[in-house]
Amino acid sequence: MSLAASSSRRRGEPDLIHTVIKEPTMAMKIIADECTACGDCKPACPTKSITEKGGVFRIAADTCTECDGDADSPQCLAVCPAGDNCIVYL
Ligand code: SF4
Ligand code: SF4
Repeated sequence: MSLAASSSRRRGEPDLIHTVIKEPTMAMKIIADECTACGDCKPACPTKSITEKGGVFRIAADTCTECDGDADSPQCLAVCPAGDNCIVYL
């Protein structure tokens, strides 16, 4: 087998660098199995990131700030009566 046939890269051509730099996500997530759909978290959210549809509560990860700038800790987590495993960090 020739070397040329074993590689699609041409001589002198730099290797492509496939580097994905993942920013840490600043968001919380509601674990559906733990949520009792009480609704307490929704009005507590300063960024209106919590929505409810058909009794299922969700946090929009693209707008949730973990309450950074609004409170010392995630307010949804502070008011949630379902325990520490209901609203978790993404
Ligand atoms: S952490 Fe704060 S901003 Fe994010 S969903 Fe909970 S209350 Fe809203
Ligand atoms: S406060 Fe907790 S149990 Fe109540 S709706 Fe929000 S996530 Fe669910």
